[in-house]
Amino acid sequence: GNKNINAKLVLLGDVGAGKSSLVLRFVRGQFVEFQESTIGAAFFSQTLAVNDATVKFEIWDTAGQERYHSLAPMYYRGAAAAIIVYDMTNQASFERAKNWVQELQAQGNPNMVMALAGNKADLLDARKEAQTYAQENGLFFMETSAKTASNVNELFYEIAKRLPRV
Ligand code: GDP
Ligand code: MG
Repeated sequence: GNKNINAKLVLLGDVGAGKSSLVLRFVRGQFVEFQESTIGAAFFSQTLAVNDATVKFEIWDTAGQERYHSLAPMYYRGAAAAIIVYDMTNQASFERAKNWVQELQAQGNPNMVMALAGNKADLLDARKEAQTYAQENGLFFMETSAKTASNVNELFYEIAKRLPRV
């Protein structure tokens, strides 16, 4: 028979990681380029039919600001599921995500389904596009960081290797 399941779900993660955007995309099929910051938390619900059940998600979209941190347990307590969101282009947001995971492991419902969402994957498309472009045009492609020195010596080293030997 078809089961009806009500599932409380909470989104946690750094400000700007894209929690509200994920919810808005899921619930309304929309994306807003300049999504306003969430104050406190926002509630949404959305029903999803899966093979054997109808799942009604009761979604708490939290703010992510540190000053609202003490409110978080209210939203994840009793939750059946949590989505921890980080921005794939932002290392600090990944560190923040790991802190949320730790907190949920320590304080959350032990049966909670936990998902880690690496959001803004579209911004990494630029990398794939550059790789393809470079390949098609006979360039070698290297991602560098002048800030961390990543691949800077390697860039010049690779050039040196490729210079014609006369
Ligand atoms: P929240 O603070 O975690 O709720 O983050 P928001 O949903 O408010 O998103 C913060 C900013 O990131 C907004 O300007 C969004 O338009 C943008 N954003 C959210 N998700 C994505 C995504 O998947 N890709 C890109 N490129 N931008 C995103
Ligand atoms: Mg938000």
